[in-house]
Amino acid sequence: MIPGSFDYHRPSSIDEAVGLLSDHGGDALILAGGHSLIPMMKLRMATPEHLIDIQGIDELSGIRVTGDRIEIGAAVTQADLIASDELAAACPILRETSYQIADPQIRNVGTIGGNVANGDPGNDMPAIMQLLDAEYVLRGKTGSRTVKAREFYEAAYFTARDEAEILTSVHIPTPAAGHGYSYQKQKRKIGDYATAAAGVILTVSGGQCTSASIALTNVADTPLWAEAAAQALVGTGLDTAAIAAAVDAARSITDPASDGRGPAEYRTHVAGIMVQRAIETAHERAA
Ligand code: FAD
Repeated sequence: MIPGSFDYHRPSSIDEAVGLLSDHGGDALILAGGHSLIPMMKLRMATPEHLIDIQGIDELSGIRVTGDRIEIGAAVTQADLIASDELAAACPILRETSYQIADPQIRNVGTIGGNVANGDPGNDMPAIMQLLDAEYVLRGKTGSRTVKAREFYEAAYFTARDEAEILTSVHIPTPAAGHGYSYQKQKRKIGDYATAAAGVILTVSGGQCTSASIALTNVADTPLWAEAAAQALVGTGLDTAAIAAAVDAARSITDPASDGRGPAEYRTHVAGIMVQRAIETAHERAA
């Protein structure tokens, strides 16, 4: 399939990109890596009249790790996330998740901004951002605002981003030193979206779980932050009963579609297995 025709713009600043978005209203879309948008355009599920390519905007690049905060520019690619040793030391689940997205060619151009702004429940980074309690910085004509990842996703392809706003960066509170982490993803083949996936971070002290966060990918219209599931772990020794309670709580909030990845019951079942494996692996890794 061939996309419809469009005008191509390549701004060199965020302000210029925001101006173009405002001028063209709902007829314009941001083009980042293009690995979600171009396939949608080929299928004519997206028919923008204007494409605003943000790859020439230097302000959108860069990873900054400070003591208590991580800032990632929207144009940082999945390959950049994998390559940063500083990022992997502070928040290793970002590297682990990036390695499970698509294949090296796609990771070389697919961006963190595109992955989290897209709104596709199959994207892996939105659940990770909910897990880490990240905030997205959105810039519009009247300035910037931040929206928590846990409040950003409204339905499949519907988010809290206004059509005239550009997502400029992602801010993540640095997880506690020595935390355990794991992203477990069941997929039909290498490069596929998840049948179901789960991320876990947790801390352990004196044999007891002192904090936990759990999130799920592709088992509902939006990513799911599984708050009750995580709470089922806190104050326990991460024993079999506590893990089973967390798995049950996580499964209870899923609502997957029956599709080529399997019937809904199967995908809910797999989600529970991913949660269990992610908790066990995170526990093993916790210092
Ligand atoms: P684009 O495709 O350029 O944009 C995606 C959407 O976000 C568009 O609507 C665009 O307008 C909007 N957008 C982009 N950047 C911004 C911004 N800064 N501000 C506001 N709006 C913006 N992803 C996964 O997570 N897991 C997978 O397993 C996976 N498998 C894939 C397999 C294949 C074969 C392919 C082709 C893609 C796969 N992807 C997967 C998607 C890939 O990771 C995309 O690169 C990513 O989802 C979107 O990033 P992008 O930079 O390519 O964004």
